Amino acid sequence: MDDKAKDALQARREKIGRVHRIKSMIVFTLTLWVIISMLLMLFLSVKVVMLQRDVNDLKKVILHSSENKISKDRNTTGETQTDQELLMQNSAEDNLADANDTLKVYLTFDDGPSDNTDRILDILDDYNVKATFFVVGRTDQHSKEMYKRIVKEGHTLGMHSYTHKYSEVYASLTSFKKDFERIQNLLYDVTGVVSTYYRFPGGSSNKVSNSDMSVFIKYLNQQDISYFDWNVMCGDATTSGYTKDDLVENVMKDVVKYKTSVVLMHDAADKDKTVEALPKLIEKLQQKGALLLPISEDTTLIQHVSLSSK
Ligand SMILES: [Zn+2]
Repeated sequence: MDDKAKDALQARREKIGRVHRIKSMIVFTLTLWVIISMLLMLFLSVKVVMLQRDVNDLKKVILHSSENKISKDRNTTGETQTDQELLMQNSAEDNLADANDTLKVYLTFDDGPSDNTDRILDILDDYNVKATFFVVGRTDQHSKEMYKRIVKEGHTLGMHSYTHKYSEVYASLTSFKKDFERIQNLLYDVTGVVSTYYRFPGGSSNKVSNSDMSVFIKYLNQQDISYFDWNVMCGDATTSGYTKDDLVENVMKDVVKYKTSVVLMHDAADKDKTVEALPKLIEKLQQKGALLLPISEDTTLIQHVSLSSK
């Protein structure tokens, strides 16, 4: 082979080598691109799931904090009547406590039964304290046992609507009636007790109902159902940002103002702090000489709004 032929062969080899390198680079780049894309997709999927969870949490906060917010709104603006003719805002003046009054305190737990109901009942039992549970409709075995345990241990079983969905409960008088009968019947079927106490989801002064609340109030009055709002809040309606000591203090600073205090608390799976605060709260209330009672026919009605005539 002469030099010229050798050179040509060499050049050919180099060319093949270059083509190989370029091919490898393209394959490498494509592979890298696919891997990065997949990682990015995985990351975004996780992110979407996390965001969806946040949205759900926020929905819960909005729904439940409305019960807190409504009362605060009332205190600052004082205007919540939907119908000036029919609804009157209740004055707390008759209920203001003097220094030597014995305080009557009604602890009320909304939204149960939940995974925390047993714990709450155990604590109440430890202190031999009776309270009131405004429950919603649940038909699983545990919930049914909780309804029964509430009644068996001498607490008051109140209704808090069947679905707790504002859009359904307050859609019309027909849907309110249907929901009301559903929860009353369920509680009767499970416990044999006809509950005669009601707490409106969001309270009687709620601003989430598109319907005139006076229609529902009138209906409950006609059924001889007493509805109770609250004049003291522990503050557990908002999901976080409080310690168990805050919850205790929130209640303690307000109960001293009233002869009759109805305290809004929640029985929900995510309200562990409420449960943790309960022993200390009971102890502090008892040190103050307060009577801790379950709601009964003798209880002074604590209502944000009521009808001026039945
Ligand atoms: Zn509620």
